[in-house]
Amino acid sequence: MPFSHHSHSGQFCAHAKDTLEACVQQAIAKNLRVFCLTEHMPRALPRDLYPEEQELKYTPQNLADSFAEYYRTAVSLRDKYQHQITILVGFEIDWIRPSMLQEIATLREKYAFDIFVGSVHHVDEVPIDFSTEMYQHAITTVESNDRAARESSGTTPPDRFPEVSPTDSTGETRIFEAYFDTQYSMLTALKPPVIGHFDLVRLKCENHTIDLTAIPSVYERVLRNIKFIASYGGMVEINTAALRKGWQHPYPGPDVLDVMKREGVKFVLSDDSHGVEQVAYGYGRCLQYLHQHDVEEVWYYEWLGTQRIIKDGFLTTQVDGQQLPEIGSANVEAKKIRIEDLKRLLREW
Ligand SMILES: [Zn+2]
Ligand SMILES: [Zn+2]
Repeated sequence: MPFSHHSHSGQFCAHAKDTLEACVQQAIAKNLRVFCLTEHMPRALPRDLYPEEQELKYTPQNLADSFAEYYRTAVSLRDKYQHQITILVGFEIDWIRPSMLQEIATLREKYAFDIFVGSVHHVDEVPIDFSTEMYQHAITTVESNDRAARESSGTTPPDRFPEVSPTDSTGETRIFEAYFDTQYSMLTALKPPVIGHFDLVRLKCENHTIDLTAIPSVYERVLRNIKFIASYGGMVEINTAALRKGWQHPYPGPDVLDVMKREGVKFVLSDDSHGVEQVAYGYGRCLQYLHQHDVEEVWYYEWLGTQRIIKDGFLTTQVDGQQLPEIGSANVEAKKIRIEDLKRLLREW
C-alpha cells in the first residue's frame, strides 16, 4: 500500500503518456493507497512554453483550458474510484518570476485543491531540467543578470526573485546558489505541503553525484532551506523519477538526504509518473535507499473521508439539503508508516 504524492498524465501534459483514468486504474492495480494528481499549473506567458508545446502550437490559453478540464476530470475520478483508492486532487507549481505568487493565488481561489507540490524548474526564468543546452543557458543568464544587478548598484533585475542576489561565484556553483535562493523564496512564500524534487538543479550538471555539502556557499543555502522546511512541517518527496533518469538513487541525493534526516524533515513517497508504466516505479530501490540512510518512516497525506459528490457534471456541496464539508487542504491529514512495514508489503506486492 504505497503512495504517490506527485503524478502527471498524457491527457494533460505534453511530455507524458496515457489518459488520467488509465493512470488511476494502474495505481489501483498496483495497490496504491493514496495517489495524488498534480498536473502542472498553466503557464501564462508565450515565452514560457516548452519546445514540445511550441511544436504543437499551444498557447497559454490552451494550457489554461486544459487545466480546467484536468480539474473536472480529476474530481470526477476521485469520486468514481473513491472505494478503491484515495485520490487527492492537486497541482505542481512553477516558480519562474515574482508574478507567479499572484498566479498561484488566483488558481487556488478558482479551484479547491487538496494538495500541491512546490517545485522549482527555472532559474532566472530559464528551465534547468529540460536539456543540457538550456541548463548551460541558465548558467550564463544568471551570470549576466548578476552583472546587470551589480552595474545598477545592486538593484534586482525586474523578473528576478529578490532572494537571488549576486555573488562572486560562476558556473555550476553559481546556478546551485541561485536555484536554492529561488527555492527559498518559493518555500517562504507558499510553505508547500510537498516539496518537489529538492535537488533537481543537478539533473543536467556535469556530475550529479557532486557533494553539495562540500561547497560552502551552496551548503549554507541547502541547510537554510531544510531548516525552514522542518520549521513549518513541510514534507520532502523521495522522488523516484531520478532512477529512470539514470541516477543510482531517487531525489534527493544522499548528501542532502542525510542533512534532512539530521534536521528532522519528514518524507513522503512520489513516483512523479508521466504515464501508466511509471506508476510506483522504482519503489523497491527507493525503500532500500531510505533504509540504508536510517530513515525509519515515511509520511503520507490522506483525505479525511468527507463526502464530495459530482451531480450533472458539477461538484455539489449539498446533498438532501445537508452541507458537505468543503474540498481543501483542511480535509487532508498526514499519517506515517514504518519503512519496515512498507518493505514487507512491497514483497507481497
Ligand atoms: Zn516537477
Ligand atoms: Zn512533476
